[in-house]
Amino acid sequence: MRHLLSTTDLTQDEALSILDTARELAQVADRPVKKLPTLRGRTVVNLFFEDSTRTRISFEAAAKRLSADVINFSAKGSSLSKGESLKDTALTLQAMGADAVVIRHGASGAAHRLATSGWIRGAVINAGDGTHEHPTQALLDAYTMRDHLRGNTGSLEGLNVVIVGDVLHSRVARSNVWLLDTLGANVTLVAPPTLLPVGVETWPCQINYDLDEAIVKADVVMMLRVQLERMNAAFFPSAREYSRRYGLDAQRMRTLPDHALVMHPGPMNRGMEIAADVADADRSVILDQVTNGVHVRMAVLYLLLGGQEA
Ligand code: ASP
Repeated sequence: MRHLLSTTDLTQDEALSILDTARELAQVADRPVKKLPTLRGRTVVNLFFEDSTRTRISFEAAAKRLSADVINFSAKGSSLSKGESLKDTALTLQAMGADAVVIRHGASGAAHRLATSGWIRGAVINAGDGTHEHPTQALLDAYTMRDHLRGNTGSLEGLNVVIVGDVLHSRVARSNVWLLDTLGANVTLVAPPTLLPVGVETWPCQINYDLDEAIVKADVVMMLRVQLERMNAAFFPSAREYSRRYGLDAQRMRTLPDHALVMHPGPMNRGMEIAADVADADRSVILDQVTNGVHVRMAVLYLLLGGQEA
């Protein structure tokens, strides 16, 4: 593996090797000094053309725990806002000696373009490209499911995962569907028909329009943010109507099996797709997802930057 661009091209062995490596590296978080010398002298650039809280900080923490040098480069405040192209930005990063570029971009395919262009020689990691993919989010989600439900070593074979909401605009949903299928889980998407992408019937998952019916056998319910910033039309009658049919409130949560987990990639619209008391409930593992994100991103950087040799 030279880059991490999507989960559709990850084999089961590659995915499991990232999850297993993340489990080993997670032990660093329990030490008084949370640092390994593995990537000393390597430079990781965080190139963010779209806003981010969790993902950018998580990659920064992951790189620093492995002793890499980190350069944070965001569109606001750089020459990107003067109209500099992706190519010129990439050539500049190459000239500065970036060993890995973590890219988030509003255009689907941007990470792929960077990886195949020859503009940079280092590894490219997709941290979210438009509505396409967000592979490290899916990996941290799989890690969290495995940790809570399969003793962090078992297989996800047969696990019932229900992903609910704005699938149309969600790179998280797409990356999860493919990765979970590769790992043997059964995925069901629940959304209003207007928020499902064209061609979704070819994805390796089931579709259900009825949330109440779908969640009774769920081991995991993953709520998606309604991505109002990507909506240029009315996709549902009103926020209230959406919450009533597709939101997870306390009453609906009570119909879940006792062991079932509630997940959300963040940022949450509390009161819309997820009620505040559900977000803060015991079975909600939303903050564990954040913690695990650092372990998984450490593993990805470690494996891509040749940490094995150290
Ligand atoms: N943070 C995730 C993403 O960047 C999910 C979201 O924005 O709703 O795709």
